[in-house]
Amino acid sequence: MPRLTVDGSTIACADGQTLLEALQAAGIGVPHLCHDARLKPYGSCRLCVVEIDGHTRPVASCSEPAAEDMVVRTHSPALERLRRTNLQLLAADYPAAAVTDQPELPLHRLFATYGIETEDSHPRTAPVFRDDTHPYLGVDMTRCIHCGRCVRICDEVQGQSVWQVWGRGSQTHIAPRVGATLLESGCVSCGACVDSCPSGAIYDKRSPGTAERWTRTTCAYCGVGCQMDVGTRDNRIVQIRPADAPVNRGHLCVKGRYAWEFVNAADRVTSPMIRRDGDWQVVSWDEALDFTAAQLRAIRDRAGADAIGLLGSARATNEENYLMQKFARVGLGTNNVDTCARVCHTPSAKALKEMLGTGAATNHFDDIELAATILICGCNPTECHPVVGARIKQAVRRGARLIVIDPRRIELADHADLHLALTPGTNVLLLNAMAAAIIEEGLVDADYIAKRVDDLDAYRAFLSDYAPEAVAGRCGVPAEAIRAAARLYASHGPAMCFHGLGTTEHLQGAEGVMCLINLALLTGNLGKAGAGINPLRGQNNVQGGAHMGCDPATLPGGQSFQQGAARCEAVWGKPLPSARGLNLMEMTDAAAAGRLHALWAFGYDVYLTLANAQATGASLAKLDFVIIQDLYLNETAKTFGTVFLPAAAWIERDGTFMNSDRRVQRIRKAVDAPGEARPDWWIIREVARRVGGDNGTLSPHNSGERAGVRGFDFDTPEAIWDEVRAVWPGGAGLSYARLETENPHWPCPDEQHPGTPVLHIDRFAGFERAALRRIDYIASPEQCDEHYPLLLNSGRTLVHFNAGTMTGRTPDIELQPTDVLDISSEDAERMGLADGQIVRVVSRYGEAELPLRVGPSVQPGQLFASFHDPRRFVNRLTSPVRDRLVGTPEYKRTAVRIEGMDGGV
Ligand code: SF4
Repeated sequence: MPRLTVDGSTIACADGQTLLEALQAAGIGVPHLCHDARLKPYGSCRLCVVEIDGHTRPVASCSEPAAEDMVVRTHSPALERLRRTNLQLLAADYPAAAVTDQPELPLHRLFATYGIETEDSHPRTAPVFRDDTHPYLGVDMTRCIHCGRCVRICDEVQGQSVWQVWGRGSQTHIAPRVGATLLESGCVSCGACVDSCPSGAIYDKRSPGTAERWTRTTCAYCGVGCQMDVGTRDNRIVQIRPADAPVNRGHLCVKGRYAWEFVNAADRVTSPMIRRDGDWQVVSWDEALDFTAAQLRAIRDRAGADAIGLLGSARATNEENYLMQKFARVGLGTNNVDTCARVCHTPSAKALKEMLGTGAATNHFDDIELAATILICGCNPTECHPVVGARIKQAVRRGARLIVIDPRRIELADHADLHLALTPGTNVLLLNAMAAAIIEEGLVDADYIAKRVDDLDAYRAFLSDYAPEAVAGRCGVPAEAIRAAARLYASHGPAMCFHGLGTTEHLQGAEGVMCLINLALLTGNLGKAGAGINPLRGQNNVQGGAHMGCDPATLPGGQSFQQGAARCEAVWGKPLPSARGLNLMEMTDAAAAGRLHALWAFGYDVYLTLANAQATGASLAKLDFVIIQDLYLNETAKTFGTVFLPAAAWIERDGTFMNSDRRVQRIRKAVDAPGEARPDWWIIREVARRVGGDNGTLSPHNSGERAGVRGFDFDTPEAIWDEVRAVWPGGAGLSYARLETENPHWPCPDEQHPGTPVLHIDRFAGFERAALRRIDYIASPEQCDEHYPLLLNSGRTLVHFNAGTMTGRTPDIELQPTDVLDISSEDAERMGLADGQIVRVVSRYGEAELPLRVGPSVQPGQLFASFHDPRRFVNRLTSPVRDRLVGTPEYKRTAVRIEGMDGGV
């Protein structure tokens, strides 16, 4: 650890630190403008200059490595004169009003510190870019001081390279590289340039004032789990900024940074309601809760506890999901509890649990920077997990190799060494062919297989039908491209795999993930840094919802009944129900068959988001009692709801989320919930108490109860979490106190345990050796024919999220007003269709109207649509086909035809 002398005192610094970093770590303030800790040193503003013995001139501390025995002066009179002169040059053509209006900005604070008046006396001759067209970002480059932070952060962090320095000398100016406005520039609205700009030349347009309080919390959109600081004033959010946290390192995407205004939406429901005679009536909490509990008790008494289904929420906290499944199991007496993980990543959990012993990502996001090769299979990180997508782009710029397996030409395909544009639904064919090539070409990791893997001989024999040349025609990828991908993945390691819903939402979703695990086992890409099999979880807490036990076959901590029943029964003081529970899809089947009478869904628009909406609607319509707990009357509530319980938004409550790479992270209340809205855990507790009596322990079901158990007697999310830690050994070390300062990856069995960022290093979870799985390809029953000649794929986009419940109530709607249907130019031309034209899409199950977007992202014969807009209701089209093992709908493959709105085409 180098030691140096600064202004007469000795300080120590870390190896590899710059002098500025060392000074900052020691609490020694040195002014700077072009420096941003997220960026490479630039050394242009000449404010961070210091004097170093042995140097004849002042040195920029931001780019000078700190070294042993350095003798440094930071504030000599000569240095202060130099800084003042540099600031005076900046002030010479700087608008005075800007300083008066926003004295808190870094540049303006420096002007004040050095007593410098802006002159505004030398009007700029260079072009000045101004832009007011973007809903979130405003630009007024009269304030630009050419520090280049916007250019560099867009390049070095986001990888979008929107900004460019144009001209030279007095003509130097910064403007978008392409387009006349930000909206035309390829900007992804992450706000990183706003965040870095020291002068307010690029600014947040919708920030209504200066924050008086900042609250650290976790983003409530995707499963990346970015940390953010929420600025509030007078109980309103005024700004959100990225936190310098391990996951996001001072970066956010458009949703995390800007899409928060939904909490103030005019149609936010803030009082409990009961639907009577077809109309919603506002009622008191007592009436709503008593009514809900009475209905649940009556249905249980009449038809049995298994006539009730409960759905946890990927939007809700771990604590709330834990409470929901506990209420199902010991409050009502049924295992009918599931989450929306069923329709996205349950196939990943199933495959990873069965083959490796733990149903979660094997590695953490920091391994992106350590991977030599990155394999992306059926996920679109730059749109759906944007901060991870940006990290992958940066890794590729630094030399990582990239393979993209996706039917569409997603953005990362433009950065990839290989893009395998397979036919939707043929993942198993393609991945088996890669495995066959790896074995045939002798690229297996023989040492790893000898130590850790079983069944190679049988697997080799099984793959004889899957040579690349044999399957190329069926999966739509040339054999040589399959072989090239196999070679790259197997021989340029460590190789890290990310997959998403393009892998899981198929007839063979879980089996597709198993095929990816086979590749990792063959090549030794497990149990080490920069490798592994990593599902990118879609929603913020989809990992946590299921992991807390909202799964009919799983107890909290991802434990099977065999592993965890005794522990849960001891803590809960009651026997667990023994009947097999229904998963979400089976609940809809049971409702259709008249066997399920009641459904409670919170933070989840079931009707809008389940595939094959007509069938979903018919099932929901048969229920006697539907409880919806949400922020708004979502599509399920509008059509089928009996009682509506208004919930607090994520920013209005406390708890924890679990992100894609197994970190448990705090969310913290930043503002009060409006009106009567309450946190989900409070609502579930109150219903449980009323169903069970007292603290919820006195249900007739619970004849085996012990005295002294807690029941539902929780007053804080932390108290709930402490019970989670008691029933989940792998989470016992994750106390709230610890989560204040760190976010270890589970398993983390005690408070001294450092956490487990990489799984399966020496052994798999519960066993020494993993077996290769022989998985035959089975074609989906959903096939094109002369009536339905096109294959529709569906998914998410950058600015909107899932059902659009949140982003659809923010200015994101200006960035993308509605869902669109992507079509190839070949198909559009052949059918005489034009960009922007509204068409009717017809499947065997329903129809939807969508505007066309003609472009190169989809292949001829294929279409793609997002499903964010309830007016478009794309799930009217999707099919009833489900994953063979876990029931996940096949959202990614529906045969359709296009009709012009006059019925032609
Ligand atoms: Fe939120 Fe995901 Fe965006 Fe991060 S990448 S800010 S977690 S939506």
